[in-house]
Amino acid sequence: MNRFVAAAVLGLLASSPAFAQVTEEDLANDQMTTHQVVTNGMGRHLQRYSPLDMLNKDNVANLVPAWAFSLGGEKQRGQETQPLVYDGIMYITGSYSRVYAIDIATGREIWQYDARLPEGILPCCDVVNRGGAIYGDKFFFGTLDARIVALDLKTGDVVWRDKIAEYKEGYSYTAAPIVVNGLVITGNSGGEFGIVGEVQARDAETGELVWTRPMIEGHMGTYKGEPSTMTGTLNATWPGDMWKTGGGATWLGGSYDADTDTLIFGAGNPAPWNSHLRGAGEPKPDNSGDNLYAASRVALDPATGEIKWHFQTTPREGWDFDGVNEVVAFTDQDGNRKFATADRNGFFYVLNREDGAFIDAWPFVRDITWAEGIDDTGRPIFIEEARPGNPAAAADGAKGETVWSAPSFLGGKNWQPMAFSQRTGLFYVPSNEWGMDIWNEPITYKKGAAYLGAGFTIKPVFEDFIGSLKAIDPVTGEWKWEYQNPAPLWGGVMTTAGGLVFFGTPEGEFVALDDETGEKLWSFQTGSGIVGQPITWEQDGEQYVSVISGWGGAVPLWGGEVASKVNYLNQGGLLWTFRLPKELASAN
Ligand code: CA
Repeated sequence: MNRFVAAAVLGLLASSPAFAQVTEEDLANDQMTTHQVVTNGMGRHLQRYSPLDMLNKDNVANLVPAWAFSLGGEKQRGQETQPLVYDGIMYITGSYSRVYAIDIATGREIWQYDARLPEGILPCCDVVNRGGAIYGDKFFFGTLDARIVALDLKTGDVVWRDKIAEYKEGYSYTAAPIVVNGLVITGNSGGEFGIVGEVQARDAETGELVWTRPMIEGHMGTYKGEPSTMTGTLNATWPGDMWKTGGGATWLGGSYDADTDTLIFGAGNPAPWNSHLRGAGEPKPDNSGDNLYAASRVALDPATGEIKWHFQTTPREGWDFDGVNEVVAFTDQDGNRKFATADRNGFFYVLNREDGAFIDAWPFVRDITWAEGIDDTGRPIFIEEARPGNPAAAADGAKGETVWSAPSFLGGKNWQPMAFSQRTGLFYVPSNEWGMDIWNEPITYKKGAAYLGAGFTIKPVFEDFIGSLKAIDPVTGEWKWEYQNPAPLWGGVMTTAGGLVFFGTPEGEFVALDDETGEKLWSFQTGSGIVGQPITWEQDGEQYVSVISGWGGAVPLWGGEVASKVNYLNQGGLLWTFRLPKELASAN
């Protein structure tokens, strides 16, 4: 076959349904296209809301397992993936950078891809992966050695792969990429190793790097291989050379607001944790110790990577309050278009959709120690005595004063995504009520080594619960209801037009609550702890729900006294799919 004929044949094949391609339109309409789930967050605004209501409060009791799929192997670590569903196939990622394609009709495996990982990877917080992205005929995901890989949707063969950053320096990658207008966009992980947070965009077809945007002031962005603009102003909020290893990892990926054509990534903690080394230990009238843009949400032009606006949730950060949590575009019950985000620092923020300007903030956990509240500019009202003390001020210079701090560094809310219901106008926020003893120590940067300058022990605050799923009104900040759970919540939440709120617990229960009252309507024991993210879709006139079970993540590794409280939980690795049979949809 000559090249001309081959091209003509390929052209024909491309237009046939057997070679279906996910388009920008598919991504843009994902929330409303209920027979498939092609984006992380069930829509790039990350609302995790489905308009499906076949499954509802009246019939959820009839939801039954359809099939379960084992990830196999002995690599049973935390399973945090969100499944994607396209063209009869479910795609999931697994611990240790694995990918599985599964027949949604039967639960049988179609292909599996295992990334070959080098010795010496440095994931801080378990070997998890939170999901992939689909565009064209490819599946994209990131690996623990900080690579981005494009696989053929049908075969699992590698189409291209590229290095995001050097794993030996402490970089890794675990978030789901996001695709906007043909660019596959990733962040990076490694904030505990003095890396520099960055967002990168590549051509989805070829893998070619289009732009990069570092998150720490003083670093230069790039566009098509050339320097573009500097992030911020050199040394405006960082002393000396500290910005060079300033952290701000973009480890939770991004969201996209189509209405304003804005890509939003969060930046993690400034490095090191010891705030006194970054000029952040004392308040300064000119805010020169704020350490931008760490602990911030940063809005970018998706075509160029230029910064449109930023909002720093925790200036002078000193508690590992990463600013990475998802920013969700929503319309409130009065018709106002806004953003919302629930921060590690314990406050739930509402921002203006046009320019990220602060609107309001309220605590979403109890007994916050480090700030009295948020002022009307969005800046925390710090309680200075609640900052871990400066080791340089200690008699031996070795350990600063220990303070009790709540939330703990694992956050009022960590990575586990919240959901927004267009039905109730409420956010369903998976939070945790816990605190920590924290102190600072001296530290110097060493490539590839932990760069904290802090020690800590996490402890529960209440005897009978840590996890707390709250229904929060984004107009008033009011908690409409709360569902308490003994173990910390570490999995995603989903809500539906059927009036249901789905989430899982480390104890293994997959639960459906009433979206208006928080009453438990259904639950199923999955056999291991749930730290994954549920989805729902419709197929042949029936509604399906999937979630992965497999206990792990940061809590067992970093959770101190909380970790020892939950060390009885069994590991696993099982993807569950549930179905509401047609004949039971009207029964109850
Ligand atoms: Ca961190």
